[in-house]
Amino acid sequence: MCIFCKIINHEIPCHQVYEDDKVLAFLDINPLNPGHTLVVPKKHYSDLEEISDEDLIDLILVVKKVGLLIKEKLGFAGYNVSQNNGEVAGQEVPHLHFHVIPRREGDGLSPWPRRGYKAGEAEEVIKKLES
Ligand code: AMP
Ligand code: ZN
Repeated sequence: MCIFCKIINHEIPCHQVYEDDKVLAFLDINPLNPGHTLVVPKKHYSDLEEISDEDLIDLILVVKKVGLLIKEKLGFAGYNVSQNNGEVAGQEVPHLHFHVIPRREGDGLSPWPRRGYKAGEAEEVIKKLES
C-alpha cells in the first residue's frame, strides 16, 4: 500500500486540513511555505491520466477550497497549484496529488527557468500535437 493510502487509512498520522467522502487534504511534511497542502483522492490513482473525470472534478474543487483557506485563514497573498506526473517530473509518491503552495512577496521561491522557441520550433510542436 502506498504512503498516501496509509495516511488515508489512518495507519500514518497527518495534519489534516480537509476531509470529505472522496478527498483528503493534509499538510506536506516538507513544506515550501507553512501551510503547503497536498490534496489527494481517497481512491488510489497513480497519476492524472488514471483518475476518472468525475473524481477529478471533486478533487479540483477541494484544491480550490484549500487555496481560499490559505489566503483567507493564513493570510497569504496567493498560491501555486502544482501536480507532478512521472518520476521525470519529480513525482515521488505514486498516488495522484495536487500541491497547494502558499505564496507571499519575497518568499524566495524562484520561478522555473524559461527558454524561447527557435525559428519553426513552435510550428513543429503544433504539427506533432495535431498529428
Ligand atoms: P511529489 O514529489 O509531487 O510526489 O510530492 C510528494 C510530496 O509528499 C513531497 O512534497 C513530500 O514532502 C510529501 N510527503 C511525503 N511523505 C509525506 C507524509 N508522510 N506526510 C506528508 N507529506 C508527505
Ligand atoms: Zn495510494
